[in-house]
Amino acid sequence: MNPVLIIGGGFAGLSAAVELAERNLPVIVLERRNFLGGRAYSFTDKITGDVVDNGQHLMMGCYHHTLAFLDKIGARDKLKFQTNPRVDFLHEHEGHACFQCPPLPAPLHLLGGLARLSSLNWRDRLHALRVGLALRSLNGNHTNLADKTVRQWLTELGQTEQMQNRFWDLVALATLNESPERASADMFARVLDQAFMHTKQDSTMVISRTGLSDLYTTDAQRFIEKHGGKVRLNASVKTIDFAVGAAVGVTLEDGETIAASAIISAAPYFMLKRMLPTELVRQHAAWQAINEFQSAPIVSINLWYDRQVTDLEFTGLLDSPIEWVFNKNAIAGDHRRTTRHLALVISGAHEAAKQSKEDLVAVAQREMRRFFPAARQAVLKHSFVIREYDATLSHTVGTARLRPSQPTPYPNFFLAGDWTATGLPATIEGAVWSGQECARLLANQCLAL
Ligand SMILES: Cc1cc2nc3c(=O)[nH]c(=O)nc-3n(C[C@H](O)[C@H](O)[C@H](O)COP(=O)(O)OP(=O)(O)OC[C@H]3O[C@@H](n4cnc5c(N)ncnc54)[C@H](O)[C@@H]3O)c2cc1C
Repeated sequence: MNPVLIIGGGFAGLSAAVELAERNLPVIVLERRNFLGGRAYSFTDKITGDVVDNGQHLMMGCYHHTLAFLDKIGARDKLKFQTNPRVDFLHEHEGHACFQCPPLPAPLHLLGGLARLSSLNWRDRLHALRVGLALRSLNGNHTNLADKTVRQWLTELGQTEQMQNRFWDLVALATLNESPERASADMFARVLDQAFMHTKQDSTMVISRTGLSDLYTTDAQRFIEKHGGKVRLNASVKTIDFAVGAAVGVTLEDGETIAASAIISAAPYFMLKRMLPTELVRQHAAWQAINEFQSAPIVSINLWYDRQVTDLEFTGLLDSPIEWVFNKNAIAGDHRRTTRHLALVISGAHEAAKQSKEDLVAVAQREMRRFFPAARQAVLKHSFVIREYDATLSHTVGTARLRPSQPTPYPNFFLAGDWTATGLPATIEGAVWSGQECARLLANQCLAL
């Protein structure tokens, strides 16, 4: 039997490979770069020796497929789980506020969390109930919201400007990586539904204690190889080759051809469109839509101070161009270090991504001084900016219906990746679900033979 080729070694490709290898199918992961991890990887900073993520990644308790994947490869212990959902916020003048859910069954925990959130006035906190009720009445059918932006939907639900700026906008940016003016309400409603309307555990934040690459790539590769699969790095696919209604193999950039019994593309949309034969793209409306997708950037500013400036693990900044500050040493449980590493995040960063690194570091330092008094005396020892221009698919209005499903018109060719039709925003969970779904579809076909 020719191997099953999986193009791409990110969360989607590795989760597909793990599932198929476990079922004893001969898989080969082909990864373009000389390391696995795709858009969720880490590297060692040469100056400090610290492991730095390409951007801080947060997961949630509702990432059921991701948690199952990490469990299977033996990596779950590298995660830090909250017991009760909690997010800290800071305002320059009003100080600290905390969204901390009481130990109540869902969705009462959410109401309890909002009731305690002192950055909002009582009227706004009560009106937030309307969002919960709207989600209940949608009963999982979010497609009615497909033509609205998050801003339009929240305004229709009577959410004041303050409530939106101080709560919903941060949630929308963090989960959709797009501003509420651009992001589609259906995707937002799905996120809120998944995260807040089921169990309290689903609403908890989950964060990696280790660098992202260490979280899953080595363990996934070990699992795949232990089950007879292969992982090839520096294997960049130039074309996916088709003949008489089926995918037959790939041609690599160096000219090597590899025959396949089936192919799963787990590459991002902007890479897939280069690999597909143009005449096939022309024939399939679902594939033509790939040309209409746009990306949303994320900017991460890493700062190293000579002292501790906050003991909070992660903090949302209200009324600031920086949305989140992650205290990397506190998250890793490394409290002895004198130099303190902070990762600052700007999502939906269409404008910020155009700024120079110097300007971004200056903004970051200004905001740190504004929000954290200890930063006013602290000395910045080192800084590092990462601009991920294609961080995720931009979830603008209308995008959801263009996302292609995992099965394709070719029975042995499947599409995985966070950008495919997962019913979720472009996240780790969507990527893992899509990989597992492709594996399930393919394994079912094999059983049927
Ligand atoms: C800065 C940043 C912050 C983020 N924060 C979060 C977060 O907090 N929570 C969350 O859930 N998600 C977050 N995300 C999104 C998350 O990283 C992605 O949804 C997820 O990693 C996508 O996985 P994937 O496998 O679908 O794609 P990718 O990770 O892009 O993997 C695709 C792989 O295919 C390879 N490839 C491409 N072309 C070829 C080719 N021709 N031949 C061979 N290989 C090829 C690529 O090199 C890559 O390794 C963030 C993303 C970024 C960039």
